[in-house]
Amino acid sequence: MPTVHGQLEPAGGLVRDVVRWYADAARDLPWRRPGTSPYAVLVSEVMLQQTPAARVVQPFSAWLARWPAVADLAGAPSGEAVRQWGRLGYPRRALRLHAAALACVERHGGAVPSTVAELEALPGVGRYTARAVAAFAFGVRVPVVDVNVRRVVARAVEGVAQGPVTVGIRDLALVAGLLPAGGDGVPAPLASVALMELGALVCTARTPHCSACPVAGRCAWRLAGAPPWQGPARRAQSYAGTDRFVRGRLLAVLRDSPLPVEASALDVVWAEPVQRARALAGLVADGLANALPDGTFTLPGAVEPTTATPATPAPPATPATSPAAEHLEAASPGPHVTPTAAVTPTAAAEHLRAASPSPCPRVG
Ligand code: SF4
Repeated sequence: MPTVHGQLEPAGGLVRDVVRWYADAARDLPWRRPGTSPYAVLVSEVMLQQTPAARVVQPFSAWLARWPAVADLAGAPSGEAVRQWGRLGYPRRALRLHAAALACVERHGGAVPSTVAELEALPGVGRYTARAVAAFAFGVRVPVVDVNVRRVVARAVEGVAQGPVTVGIRDLALVAGLLPAGGDGVPAPLASVALMELGALVCTARTPHCSACPVAGRCAWRLAGAPPWQGPARRAQSYAGTDRFVRGRLLAVLRDSPLPVEASALDVVWAEPVQRARALAGLVADGLANALPDGTFTLPGAVEPTTATPATPAPPATPATSPAAEHLEAASPGPHVTPTAAVTPTAAAEHLRAASPSPCPRVG
């Protein structure tokens, strides 16, 4: 019975059982099909962060149809990446993906690199995504630990109801100890994707389907009588009415317009002016929107500020007096934003290089 992490024989039995189950139960997802390129794997892994697989299938296919190679994406304006991202949520991921594509072209000749170190050096590619791409695109034996894998291991191996909220070094070491060495014919990436699938379909967060689980007979948590979680309660995240919600509404207006939009077009999507201004300022600060000198707003890179300025010579707008700045500052002092500092694709890439990689492994 696998109650102690790292014991090879019991752990190996657990993984073998999960891999056998996966052979019949795996979903047919486009990024798992033979011939999927490393770039397509990277796209899928970024899209799957905090997003269920079912929601990713269509946007993934559309993205690959538009930009089939990493160089195609790198050659597009970052704003078009945001536009194509659509309603997938967490749109900064689109900028991260675009910045990573640029880095692949600049540093790796238009190829996605294969080592964890090189992948982690790409902008916006964090610990989880680097390992997932190394494993699933290149077959590297590295632990790939998303929230699903962590939950399965917490229950089946450690005997507790939940894993930690964030995946740490200890979790990577724990899962690394479970991976097959390869000598028994089970590749480590196959074990990883099988554990993920079990967490997504059977060992789910709220209601694990233990009666349908291939490792029910050796699951430490179940054999211990399914003890309740003793740690702090985890609150479900709300969405409606949050700043993230408002940002989504504002971004949808920019995304749906091929031209810069007037501030008044943004005003109508959220009535509360302080929150609206804060959300808009956040979009500009994150490089997801440009505040143009004429007071309009657009996606980054869609229209450069110089081309949006009227042809008639006019005094250059200053950050303190431009219409966009006034609009952003009218309702809120905006503690962290310089609204008229239009974010160019290059600036956005720099912003992303400075930002922490996403800590949010995929959910299923
Ligand atoms: S027996 Fe239940 S709790 Fe244990 S791994 Fe399977 S689904 Fe999860």
